[in-house]
Amino acid sequence: MKKYIIGNWKTVLSPKQSEKLAIALGKKFKQKIKTGREVVICPSYLDIANVASIIKPTKINLGAQGFFSGNYQAITGSVSVLALKELGCKYVILGHSEARLAYKLDDMQINHQIRLAAEQGLIPILCIGEDQETRASNQKEMFIKNQLVKGLTNIRLRDNDKLIIAYEPIWAISPNGPAQLDEITRMHTLIRRLLLEILPANRLNKNVAIVYGGSVDANNIKEIMGSAAVDGVLIGKASTDFDSFSSIINY
Ligand code: PEP
Repeated sequence: MKKYIIGNWKTVLSPKQSEKLAIALGKKFKQKIKTGREVVICPSYLDIANVASIIKPTKINLGAQGFFSGNYQAITGSVSVLALKELGCKYVILGHSEARLAYKLDDMQINHQIRLAAEQGLIPILCIGEDQETRASNQKEMFIKNQLVKGLTNIRLRDNDKLIIAYEPIWAISPNGPAQLDEITRMHTLIRRLLLEILPANRLNKNVAIVYGGSVDANNIKEIMGSAAVDGVLIGKASTDFDSFSSIINY
């Protein structure tokens, strides 16, 4: 299985900053990304078309931070999955804790988005993860199971379909984290076990990656990627700086 390195630029960068970073990364990783690594950047909606054309000739892949999934033909102030597809997006982040909170998204809406993304050939990156209160209670396993079961309802993976689960404990997102390696490994192992109850075992091994997110940076990337349970990382802050994201890609 490839190791995924996914940068989520959120709304941190201005259009000029996004362009500058995409040009620099595109130059550095035009042809030479270490084998077995899949690098993805997810710019803001505003910057995605520009970044798409900059990274097209490079080894870096394009991802989006979501899309609108209501039953409207046209909706003011959002982005459609078809537009993302046309721009060459390969991945889309869905169910991020910030989006769940800001747009009041529930698991069923996220499930709908996952199915829409998959129908259009985009690879969904389903974010799950508990907050500190749930972590401190005995509800953590139940909480994660619930997010997985509801988020993946009626998801059928065909032969070449891929799905990425991002375990992003809310309490570990910067500036608070990261989680300790033993906790990351334990949770990824749990997620894999729970997924076995939802998806056929052959699909799980071949088509599903479980990545970790929460304060990953150039200093801890090697240790986190060293866990056999970790198929990659989803990175916020450290992906918005050229030096730190380049070091992470080259860890
Ligand atoms: C995130 O919010 O998805 C995230 C992982 O952020 P950070 O890397 O900044 O903790």
